[in-house]
Amino acid sequence: MRIPLITDIQHFSLQDGPGIRTTIFVKGCPLRCQWCHNPETQKPQQEMFYYSNRCVSCGRCAAICPGQASSLVKAAGKAAHLEVDRSKCLNCLRCTTTCLSNARGAAGQHLSMEAILREALADKLFFANSGGGVTLSGGDPLMYPEFVVELSRRLRAEGVHVAVETSCFPKQWTTVVPLLEHIGLFIVDLKSLDPGKHAEFTGWPLQPILTNLNHLFESDVAIRIHLPIVPGFNDSPEDFAAYADFLARHADRLDGVDILAFHAYGEGKYNALGRKDTYKFKGVEENPPEHVVPLARALKDRGVRNITVGGMVGVVRKKRTQHELAS
Ligand code: SF4
Ligand code: SF4
Repeated sequence: MRIPLITDIQHFSLQDGPGIRTTIFVKGCPLRCQWCHNPETQKPQQEMFYYSNRCVSCGRCAAICPGQASSLVKAAGKAAHLEVDRSKCLNCLRCTTTCLSNARGAAGQHLSMEAILREALADKLFFANSGGGVTLSGGDPLMYPEFVVELSRRLRAEGVHVAVETSCFPKQWTTVVPLLEHIGLFIVDLKSLDPGKHAEFTGWPLQPILTNLNHLFESDVAIRIHLPIVPGFNDSPEDFAAYADFLARHADRLDGVDILAFHAYGEGKYNALGRKDTYKFKGVEENPPEHVVPLARALKDRGVRNITVGGMVGVVRKKRTQHELAS
C-alpha cells in the first residue's frame, strides 16, 4: 500500500464537511486546475519551498547546496543577497533543514499510518459532539485508494465519520468501488460541465468524472457537491444554467451544494515553489458574493436543498431516511 505524503493536517476545520473535522491533505493530484490555491499538493513527491521575503541572505544554504542552485551574489556597493536558480536544483531538500530563518521548507511529510491515525483521532471527542469527523482532502485522495480504504476502515472502527473530498477523476469506476462501504460522505468538486473548458483549465477530461458521479448517484452513499466559481472560467449565466440543469436532475441524491468563491491566496505558494509561470490567475479579482446569488437561487428553485455560499459552517450531517433511500 502506498502511503501518500501529507502536506497538512488541519484541526477544527468547519468547511470540509459537517461538524468539527480534522482535514488530512494528501500530496498528489492528476489535475492541474489553473486557479488551484494549494499547488504544493499537486505533485506527489516532496518539493522545496523558498520564501525570499524571509531570507536574511546568511548563505548557510548556499554553502551546502550540491547543485549550486543557491548562491550568494554580491554587487558592488551592495550587501550580498541570495539567488536561487531552480533549473539547477536537485530537490535534495538539504537547504530546508539548514535554514534558520524559515525561508526554506519541504512540502510534504512522510508519516506512518499509525502517526496519521493518532493525529486524526486526537479530536475524537469534538467529532462526537458536533456530528463531525475526518475529511481526506488534498491533492486528491483517490490517487491512493488503498490508503483511503485502510485509513477509513480504522477510523470507522473508532466510530469516526469519514468524508473524502475529490474531483472523482479516476478513469475506471472500479477504482472508486472499494471506497463506497468505508466513506460516509463524498464531497465532489465539479469544476465545469463544459468538456472543452474542463480539459483546458484542469488538464483532465470531464467524461470520467461524470461517469463516476452518475455511478455515485446510483449508489446509496451521501454526496455533497462543491462548485468552485472561478472568474472567466465557470461564472457565466450559461455555466450557472448548466449546473442548475444537471444538479436539479439529481437533487434527491444530494446532501447539499457548496458554492465556493475563487481567491488568489495561492499565488505566493507558486512563487515559493518556483512555479510562478504556471499560475494563470495572477491579479484576477474575486467575484463579489452577490455574483453567485443567481446560481444559488436557480439551484434552490430547481429543488436542490442545503445550499451554502462559502462553505459548510453550521451544516449538520443529514441522516437519510428509508423513504429517501427508496425513492
Ligand atoms: S533542494 Fe535544491 S537548492 Fe536546496 S540544497 Fe538541494 S539542490 Fe540546493
Ligand atoms: S539559509 Fe535561509 S536565510 Fe540563509 S540564505 Fe539560505 S534561505 Fe536565506
